[in-house]
Amino acid sequence: MSRKRILTGTRPTGPLHLGHYVGALENWVRLQKDYDCFFLIADYQALGDHIEEIQRIRQAVIEVTLDWLAVGLDPVRSTFVIQSAIPEFAELHMLLSMLISVPRLERNPTLKAEMKDLGRRENISVGFFTYPVSQAADILLPKAHLVPVGEDQMPHIELTRELARRFNQTYGEVFPIPEGMVGRVARLVGTDGQAKMSKSLGNCIYLSDDAATVTEKVRSMYTDPTRIRATDPGHVEGNPVFMYHDAFNPDVAEVNDLKERYVLGKVGDVEVKARLAKALNAFLDPIREKRAYFQSHREQVREALLEGTQRAKKVAEQTMAEVRAAMRIASYV
Ligand code: AMP
Repeated sequence: MSRKRILTGTRPTGPLHLGHYVGALENWVRLQKDYDCFFLIADYQALGDHIEEIQRIRQAVIEVTLDWLAVGLDPVRSTFVIQSAIPEFAELHMLLSMLISVPRLERNPTLKAEMKDLGRRENISVGFFTYPVSQAADILLPKAHLVPVGEDQMPHIELTRELARRFNQTYGEVFPIPEGMVGRVARLVGTDGQAKMSKSLGNCIYLSDDAATVTEKVRSMYTDPTRIRATDPGHVEGNPVFMYHDAFNPDVAEVNDLKERYVLGKVGDVEVKARLAKALNAFLDPIREKRAYFQSHREQVREALLEGTQRAKKVAEQTMAEVRAAMRIASYV
């Protein structure tokens, strides 16, 4: 029996950060051996709120691919796909958009929050508003069974499941009903303590940051605001510095010792942060090394994208033929 499929991806708006790693990438790397994986560079989707920044998107396609290769995504075993090179994504997006009402889309909590961030309604393009439907098309086109993503994406998976069911009930079975899967840390907080590490909030540590940058970012991280002196008892719960220790420092004994001393006021933030910077740099070193290799072997990056996209195009054509046949469109004469 052939392996079950995964479709997941990233919007190419800049390099990837630690939140991407623990929320998603780590699972992707692990799942490659058991699933037939499609990793999508969702450049159409990025245009929804970056239509005037095509040059930035072009650059980010390469940045993201370098990050993928650096963390261990394998373009031989898995399929790297550029969304805009496969028009079938847009075609299925358009057809699925007929199967969902405007109020249903407006109820999506992730979309709601993002629309609020964009400010005035005039700032929101129709393309942005319908991006969760585009994402449903991304998932359904390769008939994915599993979608490993960060927690913020789960409402979109729910929508995808509804659309798949609705399509299958109306026109006949074409799509599997995909499941979502959230990573080890569902939503990594930002270095400023805000709810989510995110490019647009400027609170990221990037996988491509050098050691000095990481150390500096950690040094100025938000920590326990109630603590004035190192001798004051500190709070570990909800403290981003300790959340990162938990997520990235493999030395559990060291982390526990720091926590114990922190609540007793027996260790300063400077030391806790210095140890975090060290752990993060040790975690990032092999990623940096692999990234540097691919940076000087650009032809391999290009090849990964071209070959994967070619492979995915065949799958996309096959599914769209089934979709058109099921809907009895495009063959009137
Ligand atoms: P994006 O760059 O928004 O396309 O996100 C790519 C993937 O990373 C999605 O599955 C997101 O849910 C996940 N992700 C992004 N930021 C975070 C974060 N701060 N914590 C956990 N997962 C994240």
